[in-house]
Amino acid sequence: MDYKKYIKSIMDFPTKGINFRDITSLLEEGPVYHSAIDELAEFAKSKQAEIIVGPEARGFVIGGPLAYSLSIGFVPVRKPGKLPREIATVSYEKEYGVDTLCMHKDSIKPGQRVLVTDDLLATGGTIEATINLVKQLGGVIAGVAFLIELTDLDGARLLKEYDVLSLIKY
Ligand code: 5GP
Repeated sequence: MDYKKYIKSIMDFPTKGINFRDITSLLEEGPVYHSAIDELAEFAKSKQAEIIVGPEARGFVIGGPLAYSLSIGFVPVRKPGKLPREIATVSYEKEYGVDTLCMHKDSIKPGQRVLVTDDLLATGGTIEATINLVKQLGGVIAGVAFLIELTDLDGARLLKEYDVLSLIKY
């Protein structure tokens, strides 16, 4: 399916010079959203994924239905102060300052095959931090899946050792 035609591009959002790729217009089209999740689910299945991990907030919109479709679990990656139980954390450099992501410490079993997903790969900072959290907990990266990859930012250079699927590339 030509998913690209369902993505809206918004110039100068959230700041000047950024061409924001808006996935909400794809999510609004039920059969298109369904088909995208089905394709990502096929990939996850082919990698024998046992659990899905996705960062807030748009990673939930992909990871949740993916896990449901495969009847496997979903683990949220969240900003500090959101998860109630014991957490593992990782900090990473963003364009302006440092960001921290958290996961429940007991959410992944050592050796478990994890499919990591988010809506979009840009510089790769978010997905790299998420992968580092999964590894801290002893998970094995079965694959990495996105709706969109922004190839000019080359986040893929951080994912060379993994099987990666992006449904849309810019
Ligand atoms: P990265 O960490 O790879 O630089 O940025 C990816 C993260 O930022 C993802 O969690 C994604 O949701 C968000 N993001 C960055 N740029 C865009 C964009 O143009 N569109 C959307 N939907 N998300 C973006």
